Amino acid sequence: MKLKTLLITGLLFVAVSNQLKAQFTLPDLPYGYDALEPVIDKETMALHHGKHHAGYVSNLNAAIKGTALETRSLDQILGSLKGASLAVRNNAGGHYNHSLFWKIMSPKSTEPSAALVKLISKDFGSMDAFKSAFADSAAKRFGSGWAWLIVQDGKLKISSTPNQDNPLMDVVAEKGTPVLALDVWEHAYYLKYQNKRADYISSWWKVVNWKAVEELYNQVKK
Ligand code: MN
Repeated sequence: MKLKTLLITGLLFVAVSNQLKAQFTLPDLPYGYDALEPVIDKETMALHHGKHHAGYVSNLNAAIKGTALETRSLDQILGSLKGASLAVRNNAGGHYNHSLFWKIMSPKSTEPSAALVKLISKDFGSMDAFKSAFADSAAKRFGSGWAWLIVQDGKLKISSTPNQDNPLMDVVAEKGTPVLALDVWEHAYYLKYQNKRADYISSWWKVVNWKAVEELYNQVKK
């Protein structure tokens, strides 16, 4: 009898914890909310990570609950959005995009390695030409969206997407694997830069983690 009670309690516990278990979780920031000051202010980071990104994660979990997507990885979801709801598309994108965005920034000033400069120069002419084209793409994105540096057929390419779309999605025109991302939603800069998106973009280069960018590139190449 005792064993039976124990078994039932155990099964109930497993059932309840499975129900409570969220498929996706908010990743910790690899640095403090104030670490990217003065380029990105503490309040923006706290809201951006703790409210916006957290919201995408919980909305994604709610959107996939009880569907076939519940057991899929984030990459699998992004690659099979045809026919999926807008809630899945927006929140899966939001989760992926922000997880990447935190990773490719660093409070420590970094410089691109000679190898990375060579790679970028090969496809864009020079590092300066790349930065200028990327900034242009970010500045010209109408409304909310992202600018990307992607690897497409072995080449580096700049692209831009609206909303929380990204180049891993089967439903976007320009596909590739992102190695650098810039969030140009107003929530990413408005508290500090107000309407001056161009100032946010030009300051942002100071917190780019070039080592992380190169690691991402090397992962794609493998
Ligand atoms: Mn954002």
